[in-house]
Amino acid sequence: MCALYGGIEAGGTKFVCTVGTNPEDSEDVKRIPTTTPAETLRKVIDFFHGQKGLSAVGIASFGPLDLNRNSPTYGYITTTPKPGWAFTDLARAVGKALNVPVGFDTDVNAAGLGERQWGAARGLDNFIYLTIGTGIGGGGMINGKLIHGMVHPEMGHIRLPHDKKADPYRGYCPFHGDCFEGLASGPALQERWGQSAETLPADHPAWVLEAHYLALAVSDFVCTMSPQKVILGGGVMEQKQLFPMIRQDVQKLLNGYIKSDEILKDIENYIVPPELGKRAGVLGAIALAMQAHKGV
Ligand code: ADP
Ligand code: ZN
Repeated sequence: MCALYGGIEAGGTKFVCTVGTNPEDSEDVKRIPTTTPAETLRKVIDFFHGQKGLSAVGIASFGPLDLNRNSPTYGYITTTPKPGWAFTDLARAVGKALNVPVGFDTDVNAAGLGERQWGAARGLDNFIYLTIGTGIGGGGMINGKLIHGMVHPEMGHIRLPHDKKADPYRGYCPFHGDCFEGLASGPALQERWGQSAETLPADHPAWVLEAHYLALAVSDFVCTMSPQKVILGGGVMEQKQLFPMIRQDVQKLLNGYIKSDEILKDIENYIVPPELGKRAGVLGAIALAMQAHKGV
């Protein structure tokens, strides 16, 4: 019998669940609102109990997470400010209830893994995936391995040059004020301009500034990690006019120093949207389940 995998994209507003083995056969998704951990997980587990023959489940979660397999709180959401969710066991609770191996990672690492399996990062061992939404998060691979390290990357909280004369906005991050997420997330756009990001017209000056912050961050990641591709997803990146502005600004910021054709000649294929679009997260969870099944 063929293996069948469960995927869970655990988000702050909803948990998206699906079953399948690839993008074509994973089209039915169940959306469960994120309420209390007990209620949400009960509904998630009920959904998968109704599916026969699961070989493994993958969970792509909002963080911060404990990804250290030797830790007593491995598989937990840890210090989230989200009410009721700090120190919630996800991976072990789901594995125990469904009696299957569980793959567990950040939503952005998982989305990156999904893009490598079926999307924009096929064949690449070094790439980053950033989501620009309610928050900003980043993950991806170095040398063919999802990036973990001490905890996991928090690419949304890097510090960027902030010209307070051009942009006096103090920033939205409760920890750092004007870090990358504080300056460039959806809620930061809303607070700075007094209207929600999706209602700002495509030619509004907000997008030139937004593209500049994104370009500063991408240039930093290009210099530190040397990714072979940079994938930019999340709600804010629905503003497709950002892509050409970011590409041009990255070239300007790097100023010819990094001599690679990807940046100098082919940047259209270097800084790209996710090919799996909004499904990158949940399909990434399926890819995590496949890894767990193989014992990775
Ligand atoms: P989340 O980060 O909560 O998982 P999203 O990636 O959809 O979800 O991000 C939501 C954020 O993206 C909100 O701040 C919203 O204002 C913004 N957003 C959603 N759609 C658009 C759009 N079409 N244009 C600009 N901003 C958008
Ligand atoms: Zn921050």
